Amino acid sequence: MTIAAPDRTIAASAVDLTKVYGKDDAEVRALAGVTIDLYAGEFTAVMGPSGSGKSTLMHCMAALDTPTSGTVSVGDTQLAHLKDKALTELRRDQVGFVFQAYNLVPTLTAEENILLPLSIAGRTPDAGWFDTVIDAVGLRDRLRHHPNEMSGGQQQRVACARALVSRPSIVFADEPTGNLDSTSSAEILGFLRRSVTEFGQTVVMVTHDPAAASYTDRVVFLADGLVVDELRNPTADSVLERMAALQVRTVLPTSTGKDAG
Ligand code: ADP
Ligand code: MG
Repeated sequence: MTIAAPDRTIAASAVDLTKVYGKDDAEVRALAGVTIDLYAGEFTAVMGPSGSGKSTLMHCMAALDTPTSGTVSVGDTQLAHLKDKALTELRRDQVGFVFQAYNLVPTLTAEENILLPLSIAGRTPDAGWFDTVIDAVGLRDRLRHHPNEMSGGQQQRVACARALVSRPSIVFADEPTGNLDSTSSAEILGFLRRSVTEFGQTVVMVTHDPAAASYTDRVVFLADGLVVDELRNPTADSVLERMAALQVRTVLPTSTGKDAG
């Protein structure tokens, strides 16, 4: 079997990204200088302890939040160079986002939720692509249902379809399976995997779960607002092993690491 050379086109990147919340005594450095390339046509996982900056990184890279310093690019476009209107268009056309809590509009049907970003922009979806996405997430018979008539897994599939319907350059998913049972999680992960392998999409997903990370091509580990490690072609076991090693490094700082206390 021959494995195709990986596509090294960069879908999005961050250079020396910092994000500081609050002031003085209340100051929190959520990102302490993250430099990362996210490659087109890859499924990347972002892992790390609670509070390590995963959500902040996703929000800054998806243009939902502004960094304190450093640069973010989506495709060839540096976000800091964009005026409001161009930034709104980039968020709408180039970026998809899936939240842990689904974030659907309760008064709209599944179909209306999926099409909402396009409707707001006064655009209609590509019919072929809409059908492909709906069938891939298995929502054909749920399109007229409202969120309160659907299970959590079905609602998250609606949210995934909404993120993909504009064929964005990159989809960010922040713990998309965090609220789901294992069967629904497997459906979402299977769909995200398929959207990369079959449809050529680019997906970045935050997860705490080594089994979820094993669906991806690459795992990036964060700690204290920094990228501290990465792993290619992960398995649940290799992810667990790496997490354990990183924990040891935190508990037992070496002489080259930072001082304890
Ligand atoms: P993770 O997603 O890895 O759990 P976050 O990016 O949510 O981490 O948070 C990183 C750090 O920044 C945490 O210490 C968190 O408390 C802090 N933080 C996140 N958002 C805010 C905010 N809006 N205001 C103040 N502090 C925040
Ligand atoms: Mg988070």
